[in-house]
Amino acid sequence: MTETANTPSYNIAVLPGDGIGPEIIPPCLNILEQLSVQLDGFRFEFQDCVGGAGHYRDTGEELPAETWAAVKSTDAILFGAMGLPEVRKPDGTEINPQIDLRMALELFAGVRRVRSIPGVPVSLSDPRAQEIDFVLIREQTEGMFADFTKGVREDNERAIDRCVITRAASERVFDFSFNLARTRKEQGFAGKLTCVDKANVLNTMAFFREIFNDRATQFSDIETESVYVDAMALNLVRAPWQYDVIVAENLMGDILSDLAASLVGGMGFAPSGDIGHDHAMFQPAHGSAPDIAGSGKANPTAMLLSASMMLDWLGTRHNNDALVQAGSLLERAVIETFKGGKIKTAEFGGTDRTETVTATVLNSIEQLIQTPA
Ligand code: ATP
Repeated sequence: MTETANTPSYNIAVLPGDGIGPEIIPPCLNILEQLSVQLDGFRFEFQDCVGGAGHYRDTGEELPAETWAAVKSTDAILFGAMGLPEVRKPDGTEINPQIDLRMALELFAGVRRVRSIPGVPVSLSDPRAQEIDFVLIREQTEGMFADFTKGVREDNERAIDRCVITRAASERVFDFSFNLARTRKEQGFAGKLTCVDKANVLNTMAFFREIFNDRATQFSDIETESVYVDAMALNLVRAPWQYDVIVAENLMGDILSDLAASLVGGMGFAPSGDIGHDHAMFQPAHGSAPDIAGSGKANPTAMLLSASMMLDWLGTRHNNDALVQAGSLLERAVIETFKGGKIKTAEFGGTDRTETVTATVLNSIEQLIQTPA
């Protein structure tokens, strides 16, 4: 962070990436600029960074040294999407620099808010589906991803990836989750944390549950429960409105978060933040969607909601109320945009394109500023 004429300025590393990434990042930066103009109290310096599958295809490198330097030195990272199915490494795996970033910057908590937006069709017919509003936190540095890309194949007969659970990594993600449940409780949510595991079968998962129960003793104001991952998949489809904050091992969280996104409109509505103690990266939960790249059908909502999470995170970290207000304003503007079914994106049969959604969000921001709640 730097200061110009007493206004703090935040450096943001911007990684558009592949597919629809470069289509949803510019509208997001435009809206962030508008917010900084409309709400005095912060500025942004955006640092454009290259990287991704296209870059790997052209140069043999996923993220160049300048990009690594930028993500380590800036105040936050905005990430579009990376990966293209036809661009693969010699071992057949896809280009996934986002996972390298999570590991290298210790972005241990993958935070996915799952919330029904009025006007956006939900997949369940029960009226309580309109009340869905929970946060799924995925541990992102170990578990089933501990051997990420370094698993072994023996004589083409056996392949091995290890699942690793450590006390230190589990404690930090549990403490983060308990603190989030506590903050949400102050905002009127239930104050409940659900731990997802497979403690009945796997030693690593029994250890995960044991550490969860140990940490729970430090947060007696938060109600807790532990649920096996298979039962959780069922519950999320049957009654997702009963959850407040959920914490899960890496792979289980990965799978459940896509399932959760499908409950509230699909991947175009699923924001995420990858949070560590020193760094944070904000990106839509979806991939690069190469099937719709270039068609103008990319829904920028998940990107915008991720930017709203970034504003809130930066504001809380730097004690800057204007940023926190901007985060909340952007979130409310997105909700206004879809109210009453005014805007319909391609995922649910509509024709509204990236630029229409963006223009409507900008318009909603102006209206909300003119008529404060
Ligand atoms: P990854 O493995 O990187 O998560 P993926 O190949 O599983 O990616 P996505 O790229 O997220 O999947 O795309 C899944 C489906 O959702 C595709 O049909 C895609 O067009 C659609 N989709 C994803 N993001 C959006 C978006 N922002 N707007 C509209 N459709 C989207």
